[in-house]
Amino acid sequence: MLIILKHGAGQAEIASIVAEVERVGYRPHVSEGESTTLIGAIGKGPTPELLEHFRALPEVAEVIPISKPYKLASLEVQPKPSVISWPTGSTGGNAFMVAAGPCGVESREQILTAARFVKRHGAQMLRGGAFKPRTSPYSYQGMGREGLDLLVEARAETGLPVVTEVLSPEQVELVAEHADMLQIGARNAQNFALLQAVGETNKPVMLKRGMSMTLEEFLMSAEYVLSRGNLKVILVERGIRTFERATRFTLDVSAVPLLKSWTHLPVWIDPSHAAGKRDYVIPLALAGVAVGADGIIVETHPEPEKALSDAAQQLHEHEFALLMKKVRAILPAVGKEMVGGLELA
Ligand code: PEP
Ligand code: MN
Repeated sequence: MLIILKHGAGQAEIASIVAEVERVGYRPHVSEGESTTLIGAIGKGPTPELLEHFRALPEVAEVIPISKPYKLASLEVQPKPSVISWPTGSTGGNAFMVAAGPCGVESREQILTAARFVKRHGAQMLRGGAFKPRTSPYSYQGMGREGLDLLVEARAETGLPVVTEVLSPEQVELVAEHADMLQIGARNAQNFALLQAVGETNKPVMLKRGMSMTLEEFLMSAEYVLSRGNLKVILVERGIRTFERATRFTLDVSAVPLLKSWTHLPVWIDPSHAAGKRDYVIPLALAGVAVGADGIIVETHPEPEKALSDAAQQLHEHEFALLMKKVRAILPAVGKEMVGGLELA
């Protein structure tokens, strides 16, 4: 339920309601606005008696049961967009971010070359999988720990924060020690133990939509992270399974405005895994920007043809540079900007 405090409620009133929420076995989530303070009380659906109990308290203006199954993710609990920041940029609200790099970390030279050029063209974060979740156990599985060390080296040289995937709860501590954002892949989007484990960290989490997940299920997965106390979650639409085979997945662009009407969490687009072929990556990325995404994550490789995974969809450097130019041209039309970047281009 959502508890709206009376106008002008101060810290003492907030503390008293928070204590009462905890006393009745719910988890409080305070959102202080300019004129009103909202306290989300997260737990099982409240009984009519409990709603009445809170309505009767002198500090309370109104109590509203939260209608959605996701609570902490909902705009009802936090009406303002969440903004997540790194030294190189922010995402959410009017802040737009670009994360780019190869599908997987393959060698020192490959990741450093990619890090240098994505930075040169204005990306604010480096991507690269050290542990790769492959459909086939015989496909390239990533460099593992060594890949994490190379990402750290690339960050030290370029200043770009790094995002990389974590595959299991046992890996969370190791990956969180190295990465600036933890990626949960589409194939793990309903691995609830993993979602809870990343929810125990203080690192932002980039959650991909599962390929056959509804948007509500997607938000429930985010809720697993949020409910463990980690409120920094980015939702990524990366294409879903449909009957269409001409693209690898079908990019659900409508997911962006829909999610943004339900949640305060930043929403990104991953055009690379949806397209599956580099020719379609730029137009899909631009569609994402145009529908109001708060960021994009794009695959680009110094020598895409030689990539050990996802070779067909990784952009060449010149294509990535063109994409950045086009993204910058569209951003003002949707009222967004790339802030705090290291932009050198
Ligand atoms: C990736 O980003 O490298 C990846 C494997 O993506 P997804 O989980 O969306 O397939
Ligand atoms: Mn990939």
